[in-house]
Amino acid sequence: MTLDIPTTSREVHLVRRPHGWPDPSTFAVVETAVPEVGDGQALVVNDYLSVDPYMRGRMNDAPSYTPPFAVGEVMTGGAVGTVVASRADGVPVGACVVHNAGWREVSLVEGAAARVVDTGVAPASAYLGVLGMPGLTAWVGLTTIAQLRAGEVVFVSGAAGAVGSVAGQLARLRGAGRVIGSAGSAAKVAHLTGTLGFDAAFNYKQGPVAEQLAAAAPQGIDVYFDNVGGEHLEAAIGAMRRGARAALCGSISTYNATEPTPGPRNLGRLVGIRSRLEGFLVSDHDDARPAFLAEAVPALERGGVVMEETVIDGISHAGEAFITMLRGANTGKMVVRLT
Ligand code: NAP
Repeated sequence: MTLDIPTTSREVHLVRRPHGWPDPSTFAVVETAVPEVGDGQALVVNDYLSVDPYMRGRMNDAPSYTPPFAVGEVMTGGAVGTVVASRADGVPVGACVVHNAGWREVSLVEGAAARVVDTGVAPASAYLGVLGMPGLTAWVGLTTIAQLRAGEVVFVSGAAGAVGSVAGQLARLRGAGRVIGSAGSAAKVAHLTGTLGFDAAFNYKQGPVAEQLAAAAPQGIDVYFDNVGGEHLEAAIGAMRRGARAALCGSISTYNATEPTPGPRNLGRLVGIRSRLEGFLVSDHDDARPAFLAEAVPALERGGVVMEETVIDGISHAGEAFITMLRGANTGKMVVRLT
């Protein structure tokens, strides 16, 4: 099979480290020449780019679990696309692959870093969302970290987003007694209970989280899937029952803060209720992918899990997609469509 090989590609550079919220001046779109394909490499024309909250941390010049993006250089991130040239075993021309050399139209990837995916099962963009990194994160957080048991009460924050929407739906499929979600608009709350099968949901912007959570879970919660941190985490600790577990996935409410943010004031409760908070990174759990897909693919096919995404078109809007995702413009996974 031969496919057209582009000679130029546009890519998104980080041109200024944001202090607080990023804005359009954080990014620049630059045209570059497409490189030659070396031994063991493949050239991918990307169909979709992923914009993810963790990228905000990589824009800071601070030590973290991933190195910072370099100023004046292209960023990286998840992407899915079509192989147009290949000198890598197992990555044939024409295959759809997921890789981490995104934020550009055409990516040169090492064969070992590209994963061939089956677009007969789900559209390519699903591998950036429900069947991709966010879906796996939800699965790991619920099963390995929180060790959800049937009948338990689960609270998911950031519930209408990429990770949260899968976490809530998987919790329901795994027999949770009650699944509660929080999100930032009335439309998202309606989506959680109307389409995704949450038992209850509330808009965290409409009143104190602790009060709204107490109303939705009068008997308390057993599992908290934390995407948000801050006020949500404190409220969840306040609602935890004996033996409860919190999977600390992210704290998006703090990512653009310019000063250190206060921690929960009620950590002492954990002693009496014999409960646990545990942070985790999906990158430590690649070995869980087969088990996750074995559960998620059939669930998606039979409609037990609903795939939701928000699509922004064009690489020149990738920065805007990232910023508006941080502000809550997305329902489900935020992706940038290139083709
Ligand atoms: P997402 O939920 O699809 O998008 C971000 C959402 O965060 C927005 O849509 C917005 O929804 C919400 N948000 C923004 N500011 C908020 C605030 N102050 N309070 C409450 N909600 C706020 O993003 P995602 O990719 O699924 O990621 C969700 C979380 O998981 C993030 O914290 C991320 O860092 C984390 N994560 C962790 C791992 C890991 O390995 N541990 C892997 C992937 C993601 P609303 O309209 O509802 O405000």
